[in-house]
Amino acid sequence: MGRYTGPACKQCRRERMKLFLKGDRCYMAKCPIETGRPAPGQHGQRRSKLSDYGVQLREKQKLRRMYGLQESQFRLFFERAQKGHGITGEKLLQMLEMRLDNLVYRLGFAPSRRAARQFVRHGHILVNGHKASIPSMILKAEDVIKVADSEKSRSFVNQYLEIAEARGLSPWVQINKEALEGRVLHVPSREEIAPIVDEQLIVELYSK
Ligand code: SF4
Repeated sequence: MGRYTGPACKQCRRERMKLFLKGDRCYMAKCPIETGRPAPGQHGQRRSKLSDYGVQLREKQKLRRMYGLQESQFRLFFERAQKGHGITGEKLLQMLEMRLDNLVYRLGFAPSRRAARQFVRHGHILVNGHKASIPSMILKAEDVIKVADSEKSRSFVNQYLEIAEARGLSPWVQINKEALEGRVLHVPSREEIAPIVDEQLIVELYSK
């Protein structure tokens, strides 16, 4: 299945919660979740009781949609999180947070993860001094993300930076606004990420 290209708000309405897919609009009163628009479809108003499987599936869909991943990509992340030491659910959250597109969004260089992904793909970002155009690249502590030194790149970022700053930066990134450069301070803990889902339910879903 290809990447979802339909209306972003429809995904939030389906999950009945804000997934923050559209940047500024997500913080305004006209956000469809704020105005109480029902889930899409003929039975969108109905709230039938979900089975255990249904609850697990919805948790997975929320997280996958929030980070804008296809099912196959998400599954791959999960399998990588399962390997080695540590708690699988927490490792999954950390890996999603340490993706380059997510960090570009967290630093306020783009209004949404979707926009950040495009920005990276179009070559506007350098990681540790080298051009990086793969949004799924996983970064580590002390890596440096810099906006490319072109008028186009810098003017794109400047329009969003202050808005993001007003909202507050994540504690695991640091920004130098003059240089348009950000640093990853550390891999965030589960508490810092404050996930919108119970990731343990996703582990249970994929462990069946
Ligand atoms: Fe649309 Fe953003 Fe509201 Fe989601 S949170 S419904 S993407 S405006």
